[in-house]
Amino acid sequence: NYDLFKLACRVSAKRLFPNFSFLDAPFNKSYYKEGHPETEVAYMGCRTRVLGNTFDKNNEITYGRGNLSFTSINLPRIAINSKGNIEWFFEELERKMELVTKQLLDRFQIQASKTVRNFPFLMGQGIWIGSDKLSTDDKIGEVLKHGTLSVGFIGLAEALVALTGSHHGQTVESRNLGLEIVGFMRDYLDRLSKEKQLNFTLLATPAEGLSGRFLRIDRKKYGVIPGVTDRDYYTNGFHIPVYFPLSAYEKIQIEAPYHALTNAGHITYIELDGDPNKNLEAFEKVIRTMKESGIGYGSINHPVDRDPVCGYNGIIDDECPGCGRKEKDGPIKFDRIRRITGYLVGTLDRFNDAKRAEVADRVKHNV
Ligand SMILES: [Zn+2]
Repeated sequence: NYDLFKLACRVSAKRLFPNFSFLDAPFNKSYYKEGHPETEVAYMGCRTRVLGNTFDKNNEITYGRGNLSFTSINLPRIAINSKGNIEWFFEELERKMELVTKQLLDRFQIQASKTVRNFPFLMGQGIWIGSDKLSTDDKIGEVLKHGTLSVGFIGLAEALVALTGSHHGQTVESRNLGLEIVGFMRDYLDRLSKEKQLNFTLLATPAEGLSGRFLRIDRKKYGVIPGVTDRDYYTNGFHIPVYFPLSAYEKIQIEAPYHALTNAGHITYIELDGDPNKNLEAFEKVIRTMKESGIGYGSINHPVDRDPVCGYNGIIDDECPGCGRKEKDGPIKFDRIRRITGYLVGTLDRFNDAKRAEVADRVKHNV
């Protein structure tokens, strides 16, 4: 299937999709049974992943289930409040994990009290595991246990700066501490899953709205803290900040171990300069490096511009290479397609300020 892989690279280099799911990553491969496509990992576009099943080990599959709800923890806030006391940070993080998982359970109880009648497609048509054996007025609580309850997190990078003065792209100490923090959250959820016989999982939150919202609340409360609240957004999940320069290889090496820990979903992005159609070898090299490094889900960002007047597709600076027109010459603007938390947007005008600031800050990663 090497020809198909090459074709996928070519399409993605032109259109930003497909993304790449790595079925060979150890934490995905361990579920895979030959001849059973339902045991293959399938990521949702934005990154969410449902595969393991503590409630029913015979149904560790992708089909017929999904995420029931998720709630995200503001890591930078806990780190700011800890005033550099790492022991207190972990104690407070545990308290927040307790709070969030209680809230997820509360919400689950409400969902569990519904009947098949409330979900005529999902349950009524037997899409969800076990729902085919239920009648219209049966409660869905028992079959819902196949779903996942996820705790997400945001701003590992800013939390590390608040704790140690550097993020995980900058020092080995912060790299280790970052893994310790995210590993702590995962252990907590694994323990709780066993105890409750439910699926509590850990998510590197996509945070299209939250990255700006948490930041605004914290800046009001704590003021501008360099490297923590001095931009208009918190960095997503475990990502290295978009403005920090490092090579594609380094970024992949630093982020890969977090993929193994975040069993509810994860993604690593690499930003390539120029038109990757003209350098498909570099594109393929990045995808292969992801595969070799234990990335679960990855994608390459690059600028895709389009002139709606003449249909030219590629990189457009001031002047369209297709027809020579300039944006300021007329009312019709060039489309500038960018990826924001998994989704493609045709123009940045319509997106929120925090994400626009994040896009403007992105630096390219050398191959
Ligand atoms: Zn044109």
